[in-house]
Amino acid sequence: MFADLHIHSRFSDGTYAPEEVVAEGRKHGFAVLALTDHDTAEGCAAAAAACAAAGMEFIPGVELTAEQDGHELHILGYGFDPTHALLLAQTEQFQGVRQQRIREMVARLNGLNVPLEADAVFALANCRAPGRPHVARALVAAGVCSSLDEAFERFLKKHRPAWVPKFKISATDAMELIHQAGGAAVLAHPGLNRVDEMIPDLVSAGLDGIECFHTKHSTATSQRYLEMADRLGVLVTGGSDCHGMNKGQPLLGSIRLPYLHVEQLKRRVAEIRTTANRTGAAPSPAIHLHP
Ligand SMILES: [Zn+2]
Ligand SMILES: [Zn+2]
Repeated sequence: MFADLHIHSRFSDGTYAPEEVVAEGRKHGFAVLALTDHDTAEGCAAAAAACAAAGMEFIPGVELTAEQDGHELHILGYGFDPTHALLLAQTEQFQGVRQQRIREMVARLNGLNVPLEADAVFALANCRAPGRPHVARALVAAGVCSSLDEAFERFLKKHRPAWVPKFKISATDAMELIHQAGGAAVLAHPGLNRVDEMIPDLVSAGLDGIECFHTKHSTATSQRYLEMADRLGVLVTGGSDCHGMNKGQPLLGSIRLPYLHVEQLKRRVAEIRTTANRTGAAPSPAIHLHP
């Protein structure tokens, strides 16, 4: 039995509806799926229902963009309550930040004499957590660029003329939020962020696991993180980071995480929930957005 624990849907920058994610996952023979949209868990209810109907297991997930010591890193949350009030309030705030960033990127494009309206991007994105891939798609739809790659290369990549820095929460606040909502916090694709030396500190601050298996990790990279997870005594997770058709070909099926790791994740979530219940209604952490 295998799992893919890192998948995006139409509720952020993926192209599949949650039901399509599940249908694709079923085709590939997965026993377990997790949906991990950026800054929203909105798709989880539909994905859970589709998984139940298909006889598959579903784990609610989310991917938060965080920052530690000036480095961007992504924190995955798993097994939390998707209707948790604090989680909903905070993700709504992150979504507002994303929408504002789209407006600023469009303003920069307009300054470069590229005619594009923010509303066109929002209409195309049709979700509360829009991102750069939606701007890229709007640029292709408007005939300004011939491909998503060209849109990123010319305008949207870091330090290109229409790039706007993204405001992020601290990794500690992201992990705290996930724990409060009853979930486990996992560092996404560390091989892409070059944050190895920070991982022991992140574990001390509450990190529960490392995404060792990822489409963009080489075998050697996965091995390095497996050893690190073992050494630090944290969970091992893995996923394709499939965005449907948004990043070329659908990646679902490229990573097959053995079920053993899902069992360990579920055990950790149960522990977190027991602790959360014991401490009762903990006061909400003050989560501050900072550049
Ligand atoms: Zn990511
Ligand atoms: Zn992702």
